[in-house]
Amino acid sequence: MSSLVWFRRDLRLTDNPAWAAATRSHDAVEALFVLDERLLAASGRLRRNLLFAHIGALDAALREFGGGLRVETGMPETVVPAVAFEHDAVYLNRSYTPFSLRRDAEIATATGPPVEAFDGDVVHPPESVLTGAGTPYRVFTPFHKRWSHLPIERSPKPGNAAVLRRSAGAIPTAEVPAMVGGEAGAQARLERFLEVVDRYEEGRDRPDSDATSRLSADLKFGTVSAGAVAERVGRSTSGRRAFVRQLAWRDFYAQLLFHSPRTITHAYRTELDAIVWADDEEALRAWRNGETGYPIVDAGMRQLRLEGWVHGRVRMIAASFLVKDLGIDWRIGEQHFRRLLIDADPAQNVGNWQWVAGTGADAAPYFRIMNPVAQSRRFDPDGTYIRRYVPELASLTGPGIHAPWERPLETAAAGITLGVDYPNPIVDHAEAREITLRRFGAAKATS
Ligand SMILES: Cc1cc2nc3c(=O)[nH]c(=O)nc-3n(C[C@H](O)[C@H](O)[C@H](O)COP(=O)(O)OP(=O)(O)OC[C@H]3O[C@@H](n4cnc5c(N)ncnc54)[C@H](O)[C@@H]3O)c2cc1C
Repeated sequence: MSSLVWFRRDLRLTDNPAWAAATRSHDAVEALFVLDERLLAASGRLRRNLLFAHIGALDAALREFGGGLRVETGMPETVVPAVAFEHDAVYLNRSYTPFSLRRDAEIATATGPPVEAFDGDVVHPPESVLTGAGTPYRVFTPFHKRWSHLPIERSPKPGNAAVLRRSAGAIPTAEVPAMVGGEAGAQARLERFLEVVDRYEEGRDRPDSDATSRLSADLKFGTVSAGAVAERVGRSTSGRRAFVRQLAWRDFYAQLLFHSPRTITHAYRTELDAIVWADDEEALRAWRNGETGYPIVDAGMRQLRLEGWVHGRVRMIAASFLVKDLGIDWRIGEQHFRRLLIDADPAQNVGNWQWVAGTGADAAPYFRIMNPVAQSRRFDPDGTYIRRYVPELASLTGPGIHAPWERPLETAAAGITLGVDYPNPIVDHAEAREITLRRFGAAKATS
């Protein structure tokens, strides 16, 4: 009796419910990964590389059991049923995005042997955190309260099934990935973070320090399970509790998209779908290239291009700038982030973009508009983060780093000519704020 385990966003052998169940209930198991060209085409180079590094590491781990990872390229809708034909059952861990749910439903219908689906992507699966009335939560605080009281389920140890090795396509070789791949890489990142987790609460909003876990891409690719991270960190200090609360946000957005799939492209607050957005290609290009003249925004957008990862606070500032200062549709920003982020996850990205835009469930009210300069002063007070990613401002050592146009003498003394060495701000924040308030107000009035 043999089974097929189709790996997707669960590139690990530890605490992997589908892998554990398959290896415990069959004599032999084949591990499959399908390189879906639709997903590869939508991914930036850095995320593709990281994926290749992770599947290479998974293959190496499977070789230790005498087997290996079968890697096929094509549409899973045709590849999986074809490979499944050689087996008695198919095992997988559910993914909750609309795309994955549609794909998996199609595959379940087309596949001969039964498909056994497990939950391995989140701490608590979407249907398990419900209100007393059995409905999904729309507000984070009560969701978190309920979520915190649920026991974390971990999968049993894998069984003794033989791991098969069948001929398959080669794993694409990764250029040097953004981080060390596989479970070992994820464990090393978790261990490093555990040394600083008790200071997480104070440090997590500071892009100039290395106070967050950087586990988002591991959670996205499943090189570590969210439940294992939550358990390992625990809740014994305020820093640890603050961190585990962020994992609850991840589950919150996963269940929000699961229960409201239309929000992947539509405002959660339907009345805000009526917003008339600005159509400004030049401003959009400046934002994408990190040339808005707002140093903290530009630093974030350049970090995105260079590393495929951006500090969470700066993601917020850059996203808010696109929507509230440039008046550009949040969906355009979401697509840009989704392409470039190594941790891009539709539920997290859409949920956060809608939160920032004020169109989401439990979002800040639209009239609370972030001031990028005030945010910069507060969270990168010495400008260390800005100087790292905007080298043309590196000689600015004083407060002018946050808004060089406000300090012409300091800027000139640093040898910087605005409009030549670094752009003038492309919008005036105060004016942009008024326009945004009118834009959102008009949409609300027409609903
Ligand atoms: C506009 C915007 C887009 C975003 N897009 C994504 C995305 O595509 N994928 C993604 O994983 N995160 C996204 N985030 C959330 C957050 O910024 C990142 O998860 C976090 O910065 C990753 O760094 P870290 O692992 O060091 O986080 P830590 O501070 O160490 O947090 C631990 C984990 O908690 C989760 N988490 C933290 N903050 C959030 C949050 N606001 N929402 C949901 N989960 C959170 C992540 O899984 C993270 O790895 C986005 C945030 C914004 C504002």
